[in-house]
Amino acid sequence: MPEREFNNESFQTFLSEHKLMGSRCATCNTLYLPPRPMCSNCFGETMTWVEMGGRGKLRAFTVVHIATSAMIEAGYGRENPYFSGIVNLDDGPSISAQILGADPAQPEQLKIGTPLSAVFIDRGEGEEARSFLAFELKSGQ
Ligand SMILES: [Zn+2]
Repeated sequence: MPEREFNNESFQTFLSEHKLMGSRCATCNTLYLPPRPMCSNCFGETMTWVEMGGRGKLRAFTVVHIATSAMIEAGYGRENPYFSGIVNLDDGPSISAQILGADPAQPEQLKIGTPLSAVFIDRGEGEEARSFLAFELKSGQ
C-alpha cells in the first residue's frame, strides 16, 4: 500500500483506482470514511489504511433536482434528477453518494435498508477526469 496522507485528496486518488479506502485508528480501531489524519474518539494520530468491502444498506435518501456542477456535467439536473443517499457500510462507517439502479421518477420504489454495492464512475477526460463513488442496488432486489 503506498504511503498516502489521510485526507480527502488521497481518498479521491484511491477512488480513481477504484478503491474505497478509509482510515482506522491504530489505538482504538475507530474507522473513518473519508479518511481522517486524527482520531476524534481518542485523539490518536496513528492511522492505517483500510479498504472497505463496499457493501452496505441504504439509511436515507433524497431525489436531487438541483444538481452540483459536476453532476450537471454528467447530464443530471431538473430534467434528469438522481438519488443521493446515505449508505451504512457493513464495515461500520456511513457515507453519502449517488444511488443507482432505481428510477428517481418513482422514489417510493426505493426502500430504506435496501442492500447496495459500491461502484466507481469515471467522468470527464484528461485533466478533467475524476472518479465518483456511487452505490448500486444489488441485482435481484
Ligand atoms: Zn482512536
